[in-house]
Amino acid sequence: MLKKKKYIYFFGSGKAEGRAEMRELLGGKGAGLHNMTRIGAPVPPGFTITTEVCTYYYAHDHRYPKGLEKNMLDSLARIENILGRRFGNDDDPLLVSVRSGARESMPGMMDSVLNLGLNDRTVQGLIHRSGNARFAYDSYRRFVQMYSSVVLGLKPLDKSGVDPLEAILERKKKNRGVRFDTELNAEDLKELVADFKVEVKKRSGIDFPEDPFKQLWGAIGAVFGSWNNDRAIAYRQHYQIPHTWGTAVNVQAMVFGNLGEKCATGVAFTRNPSTGEKQFYGEFLVNAQGEDVVAGIRTPKPIAELESLMPKAYLELKKACKILENHYQEMQDIEFTIEDNKLWMLQTRAGKRTGFAAVRIAVDMVEERIINKKEALLRIEADHLNQLLRPIFDSYDKEQAAREGRILARGLPAGPGAATGRIVFHAEDAVAWKKNSERVLLCRIETSPDDIRGMEAAEGILTARGGMTSHAALVARQMGKVCVAGCEALHIDYAARTINLGQTVLKEGDWLSLDGSTGEVMAGEIRTLPSEVLQVLLGKRLEAGKSRVYQQFSKLMKWADNARRLGVRTNTDQPNQAVVAKAFGAEGIGLCRTEHMFFQADRIQAVREMILADDEAGRRRALQKLLPMQKQDFKEILEIMGGLPVTIRTLDPPLHEFLPSREEEIVDLANVMRVPVQTLRDKVKVLQEFNPMLGHRGCRLGISYPEITEMQARAIFEAACELRREGKNPFPEVMIPLVGSREELRAQRNIVERTAKATMKTYGVKVRYLVGTMIELPRACLVADEIAQEAEFFSFGTNDLTQTCLGLSRDDAGKFLPSYVLDGLLPQDPFVSIDQDGVGALMKIAIAKGRKTRKGLEIGICGEHGGEPKSVRFCHEIGLDYVSCSPFRVPIAKLAAAQASIGKKA
Ligand code: ADP
Ligand code: MG
Ligand code: MG
Repeated sequence: MLKKKKYIYFFGSGKAEGRAEMRELLGGKGAGLHNMTRIGAPVPPGFTITTEVCTYYYAHDHRYPKGLEKNMLDSLARIENILGRRFGNDDDPLLVSVRSGARESMPGMMDSVLNLGLNDRTVQGLIHRSGNARFAYDSYRRFVQMYSSVVLGLKPLDKSGVDPLEAILERKKKNRGVRFDTELNAEDLKELVADFKVEVKKRSGIDFPEDPFKQLWGAIGAVFGSWNNDRAIAYRQHYQIPHTWGTAVNVQAMVFGNLGEKCATGVAFTRNPSTGEKQFYGEFLVNAQGEDVVAGIRTPKPIAELESLMPKAYLELKKACKILENHYQEMQDIEFTIEDNKLWMLQTRAGKRTGFAAVRIAVDMVEERIINKKEALLRIEADHLNQLLRPIFDSYDKEQAAREGRILARGLPAGPGAATGRIVFHAEDAVAWKKNSERVLLCRIETSPDDIRGMEAAEGILTARGGMTSHAALVARQMGKVCVAGCEALHIDYAARTINLGQTVLKEGDWLSLDGSTGEVMAGEIRTLPSEVLQVLLGKRLEAGKSRVYQQFSKLMKWADNARRLGVRTNTDQPNQAVVAKAFGAEGIGLCRTEHMFFQADRIQAVREMILADDEAGRRRALQKLLPMQKQDFKEILEIMGGLPVTIRTLDPPLHEFLPSREEEIVDLANVMRVPVQTLRDKVKVLQEFNPMLGHRGCRLGISYPEITEMQARAIFEAACELRREGKNPFPEVMIPLVGSREELRAQRNIVERTAKATMKTYGVKVRYLVGTMIELPRACLVADEIAQEAEFFSFGTNDLTQTCLGLSRDDAGKFLPSYVLDGLLPQDPFVSIDQDGVGALMKIAIAKGRKTRKGLEIGICGEHGGEPKSVRFCHEIGLDYVSCSPFRVPIAKLAAAQASIGKKA
């Protein structure tokens, strides 16, 4: 017989049916609650409805599986028995929270409802039991407010974002002449409850449900429903969390942080989530409930102040945090509530952190012998390394700003880094301005999950309210954005689109700068400098010994180098970038484009002469002028890279790219070149193509005009020979682009080989070199065995391979590709992360066929995917020798390659 599915897992009184490993079924929050209960932490009893119920709910037209209701009533009864009070009972009601919790924590994405079970009768019971009418009505008004927004869908009316019930609350505070909700009395709160209900009825036509069971089912349905709200979907897209996972629901007995002065609610971290420093860290609010800290209702107090206010609970909390960090061997982010000096733990999870903190915590934990090096490498999101390489403010310019009195205020340093941009107030504006290539700072009184896309678009985020664990701070840290939160001096007027900072008034569009490491807010634009890591590596501006960030970064890179199998090269044609990449430990150049060199002012002329020439002799004359310049380029780069391979691609783009297209430019150029305008016009016309991407480009140019390939080969080998004579050890790899057949490659290769031999003979030296091809056409993949007869290496050009495999022009895809991804027709943008099923399948064929012909054929990738962690992992799995990416992504690719070797789960 089939075992009946278990839909509900209970926890309470030190026992739990679930375990820490059951995240998939119980969600992260659920698994944490069960586990904390097991290890003896004080957790209010409750139960978890599994993610399978959510999946069922979506598969069955929003219905629940049979038997769920009975299971739930049984579980509720177990809570009642433990606490000795009944759900819906008028004299001593049990109140619960209904909390969402997906497998991966999605902070602020899904809504929870607290104090559920209150109505006009049960509130009397609560008053009676607590002897505290203010508390009871405070809980009640919170419940009505949360329930109305989360379950009944009451939404702000306009983009000022003011929630209609929040507006009523604000009005009430104003009428009473108070600033904080804690200053309202029982009568005020009671009136609020009534006013809220009237407003709900007015706006939605719904009578606020009085029946606690109806409330409960409503809340459960809303949590499941919230899995598919816009902001949850946006969040999942940003972090590539599958839409199929679903969320669990936790129903848990309430404990109250709003019962008076010996009560509090807060958030604690076992280490600093901004910097990674090992310190007990957190914030709390006295006489408050859960959401207040995160929502930034009042600016919370630092956790250290709890020690004197509620010493017993403080010590207990500190101890519990230690136990939890040891237990999970990971930095924990903990939610707690103190009810009458008694500590309750409500959540624990691996704390989100900045890239700085991620590196510091991982390296520290290895040194503290908590985790090993492999684990440390797996703990850091490869993309997060970006933050360590990002600019910081130029200290001179910043001091100047200080002297000029431009430091306007100081908030909390919630997301480290330097950001300069123009002020905008709304998420949509941030997105729109960014589209117009503006750098913006999003300034908000506080942020909410609706602001996610705007936060993504902004360089930095500034909020007036909210602490280090506010929504703004949390999300900014996770996105690696600069953030200054809780800047109390900041007054924002959304309607006037201005901010007030002390004496200064700034308007939308004005420049502002944020130092997310110190919390300073500064008027105007401030110059930035390379990160500490870069200053050590390149500048000699900073000594390695003086930068902890650098030291930990380089330790981590060493561990990654030891762990990875994949080589990491870089894509560059610029000597200064080659220097950067080499400092990061790039093991060669995987793509040196030659056409960028052609565009430089002193060369474009010769290039145009070549294009306009009527015959080979004319072209050769022009190419002769280019030769010394190209040679100089190659020499410099080959020298910088020492003995490391430098893959140089012969000319690739269609020739029309080198000619002007507008009439005035054509006339100008004709004058400069002393050719009749008509001749030039005709030439431009002849070169015009319907689809240049598939036109006369790549090796097709070299086939039509072998003298171009010949000149480039000469430049390469003369450069190499000269270096050889100087006792250096250059290693060029000549790469022929857009090859589709063996014959094409053979023709080009013959030119290169002939030129190489002749040049080496002239110079009387021998140079190590390879001739190979880019694999960027589906046909090349399919006949890779033949192509490998002529190729000493392959390098996947996955940009073109993606275009040609998907039949999708990257330049034209902007109109529809984003919506494909949004609607789930494609799992991700194939130009960002390799389309493994399609492009990846072609790559596998090419690898197998290529290596069948030529055992040990060197194969790499030089498309932009080579620096994207998921693609890097794929390249590892299919057996490439190396990936090549832009210089600043070299550390990221190295870490991703190490993670692939260690076996990070996808
Ligand atoms: P989120 O996922 O947004 O953090 P939570 O379910 O954790 O949502 O709840 C929101 C807030 O309410 C948190 O601060 C949490 O600690 C608090 N909270 C949740 N359940 C309870 C409860 N049973 N008693 C007291 N506070 C609670
Ligand atoms: Mg929340
Ligand atoms: Mg929480």
